[in-house]
Amino acid sequence: MIIIVLTRGIATEQRALVAQTVKELFSGSRISCGESFISVENISNSSQSYLSRIEALQGVAKVEVPVYEACAHSIKGDNRQETSVRAGNLRIGRDTFTVIAGPCAIEKEDQYLELAQALKEAGAHMLRGAMFKPRTSPYSFQGIGLQGLEVIAQAKKRTQLPVVTEVTDVRYLDKVAQVADMIQVGTRNMRNYELLKELGRSRIPVMIKRGPLASLEEWLLSAEYVLNGGNDQVVLCERGDCAFGRANPALNFNIVLSALETTHLPVIVDPSHGTGIRSHVMPMSKAAAAVGAHGIMVEVHDNPETALVDGKQSLSVSEFGNLMQEIKTITA
Ligand code: PEP
Ligand code: MN
Repeated sequence: MIIIVLTRGIATEQRALVAQTVKELFSGSRISCGESFISVENISNSSQSYLSRIEALQGVAKVEVPVYEACAHSIKGDNRQETSVRAGNLRIGRDTFTVIAGPCAIEKEDQYLELAQALKEAGAHMLRGAMFKPRTSPYSFQGIGLQGLEVIAQAKKRTQLPVVTEVTDVRYLDKVAQVADMIQVGTRNMRNYELLKELGRSRIPVMIKRGPLASLEEWLLSAEYVLNGGNDQVVLCERGDCAFGRANPALNFNIVLSALETTHLPVIVDPSHGTGIRSHVMPMSKAAAAVGAHGIMVEVHDNPETALVDGKQSLSVSEFGNLMQEIKTITA
């Protein structure tokens, strides 16, 4: 139900005019008119576009749209099962705790393949590896680009693990989707609506990271772009609020819990970008498991001190091995 709040002391004729417009625009919905509000029940997704016209009417103070109306595809319904996302032969979602691990960026082929093998042996369920790095500075390492596709293909072949990688621009989507098992939409691109629409047309699993200071509703609306296109394979990933490079980010477990309560989509946590500090990755990973998240994505590097990107928050392989042991004590 949406509530149209009328201005205080609205004249009777003005109220009647607002009511008439509401009835015309939402003819298929149940409408109740009170002194100070008009409620509209059962509005369709397509008629949501009329809400801005209602907001603009004289005599309307505001229009309240609860998250369950705004995000019809992503909220939990009475009979809706929790969605499981299938990346390769891995299932992410209800009753699972998926650990995705890998370097921030793919640097060199041999190095990535060796690391991938070590991560598999340590118990990772999925690999991460970016070939496109959206960086605040154009002078920072930007990733190895499409050359990374072959590296990802090799890593999959050798480890039999699925791989998630970021796509920053619709131009690369088709090529990357042929090799990767899940496409990451990074925090900066959560609001790249053309990219999200294109992902909605595809059938590849998508992981959407929460954008800086985005509310739960904004995050779910980004997912709606993909779901509304007919692709129901969406994972949400919390990565903390940040002012890139200016301060450490703040991982938001409130929003993780709210997301777990509100949506049928799997929700995971990125304790690496979410803290920016290596020593905080283990406790925050355990916290993610403890609050019931469906997994974590962790940055691991064979030699964090020489990493081209995000070495300060990357774990070594042996630290990752310890993390897997600790996580097991919570998720078992
Ligand atoms: C990443 O996971 O590689 C990344 C760049 O993260 P974010 O978009 O959250 O900054
Ligand atoms: Mn990174």
